[in-house]
Amino acid sequence: MSSTSRSSLNNAPADPALATQAPAIRAEQLCRYYRMGETLIRAVDGVTLEVRAGEFVALLGSSGSGKSSVLNLIAGLDRPTSGSVMVHERDLAQLSREELARYRLHTVGMVFQSFNLIASMTLAENVELPMRFAEVNRGKRDGLAREALERVGLQARMSHRPSELSGGEQQRAALARALINRPQLLLADEPTGNLDSHTGTEIMNMVREFNQQLGMTVVMVTHERALAERYAQRLIFLADGKLVGDVDPEAMKELASAYTPVPGGVGPLTIAMLMANTVQIAEQHLCSA
Ligand code: ADP
Ligand code: MG
Repeated sequence: MSSTSRSSLNNAPADPALATQAPAIRAEQLCRYYRMGETLIRAVDGVTLEVRAGEFVALLGSSGSGKSSVLNLIAGLDRPTSGSVMVHERDLAQLSREELARYRLHTVGMVFQSFNLIASMTLAENVELPMRFAEVNRGKRDGLAREALERVGLQARMSHRPSELSGGEQQRAALARALINRPQLLLADEPTGNLDSHTGTEIMNMVREFNQQLGMTVVMVTHERALAERYAQRLIFLADGKLVGDVDPEAMKELASAYTPVPGGVGPLTIAMLMANTVQIAEQHLCSA
């Protein structure tokens, strides 16, 4: 393996200047409506938000609140009905199909609840697939796929097929695949949704490592508040396609230091949500606590 390929996965990929520059992601009055016969479903309904480079943001909300729709728009898998998504100052709506495909290939890594590995391929083949699309040559692909699988502790399982692996191992392979083209954004849609809590924690620790050591900006969809509180620096709440709360890192830190747990009492997140005027969500939280 060449020294270039090794350093490519171990060093922070992003331009360090990005951390202080324009936001990594900026959505402005973002809307995505679906027409189902006579009904118009406002899956995303005027969302404006910014995510800074290197941030770890959790997107929270109940089922059907529009989380996956927002994530898919940021991923360039879908186009807005109106409004815009800018990623690193590029308006995704202005990109041609080819440019959008390149954007998905080079800028974005995605992981899903259901892993989405190709069943007929070995782990190594799954992981190197994005590099085949990116026309990386064979020798380099092998080295990088091995390195990515080592990074997630699956070096011994390279020639296994997904069905021979546990859920946690499959998600680790999916993370290796998401990492392979050194994307600046990691978008995760309920990445621990199909895993037990121990395995879920393992996956989350890896996501955090990618964020902290590789400098990847992370947007993670989840409906698990505890997970979001534990790992994300910022929590964004959606309800009915609208942004109803945005709790920033400073508020989280202050609350964490001021908060003394009371058995059966309200948690720091509840207080944070009240502070962020997300009364509706806070009420739900209190009722379900
Ligand atoms: P979440 O991820 O928060 O559960 P989604 O973004 O998947 O929510 O969905 C938001 C709303 O949009 C839901 O009412 C869902 O049924 C609807 N929706 C999502 N995708 C489509 C689609 N392709 N066609 C029609 N309706 C959709
Ligand atoms: Mg979803």
